[in-house]
Amino acid sequence: MRFKDLSHLKRPEPLIITLGNLPQHILMAKFAKDKAFKINELVGVIFEKSFEWYGFTLAKNDHPELIADIGLPKNDLNLQDHTTLGSQRIAEFQESLPEDVMINGWIHSHGALNYRHFSNTDEKNHLTVLDFVAARTRKPLAKKEIAIQDLVLLEKDRFVAKDLGKGSISLITDGPITEAKIMETVYGSFCYSIVIGDEGWHEQEIHYRERGILSGHTTVRSQAANIEFVDTGRSLSQSDINELSNEVEEKIKPHTDPPPEMIERM
Ligand SMILES: [Zn+2]
Repeated sequence: MRFKDLSHLKRPEPLIITLGNLPQHILMAKFAKDKAFKINELVGVIFEKSFEWYGFTLAKNDHPELIADIGLPKNDLNLQDHTTLGSQRIAEFQESLPEDVMINGWIHSHGALNYRHFSNTDEKNHLTVLDFVAARTRKPLAKKEIAIQDLVLLEKDRFVAKDLGKGSISLITDGPITEAKIMETVYGSFCYSIVIGDEGWHEQEIHYRERGILSGHTTVRSQAANIEFVDTGRSLSQSDINELSNEVEEKIKPHTDPPPEMIERM
């Protein structure tokens, strides 16, 4: 045989060493769940009508994967069927939180609507929230080999400018070497998205972003996820409810005279 089988020349799979994982399901304190549905109830009582509202899911910095509480920002606009969210509002809200508390996602209500899934507007909001919380939920997921064609190995103080003209990447070392692997850290971030309704239903997703620190290679994806409700020992007391009632009254402003084009949006 003159020609060898060339299959062995296929580029080898890059080496990947796992360092950590992003959550595959949502952990939520029962307290936070009760609070979310209590907001729905209070909106109905206070405004005598069901409105959409949104809030943030909150975690302690040392346990970013557990939704421990719900934070209610001043809602810009509460129509019966629409809620929008801007990054400026998220930043303002994060700044108002104690230092050991972070936003790890967002929650909103479709009120009395039996629209039990995320709308197109919601999809945009997911990305706005993910963008904002990514820095705080970020963790190393893997070390991954960067496949480099034409890696040129040079020795410190022993190369000339012309040598830098060769190859795609130059690695300059303090001694002679003949082989090198470059491994980059792939960081992963997540945010939770939950939608609830007056009738007690909830739907939720986790949104993920992964990024290679050196290659800049970025992927964004999402998946439907289950919620595991956790008893953290905290329950919604009457004084919590009184306080929440004041918050709802102050922060959720029903837009009683919206322009018609806004009413039509989902
Ligand atoms: Zn929605």
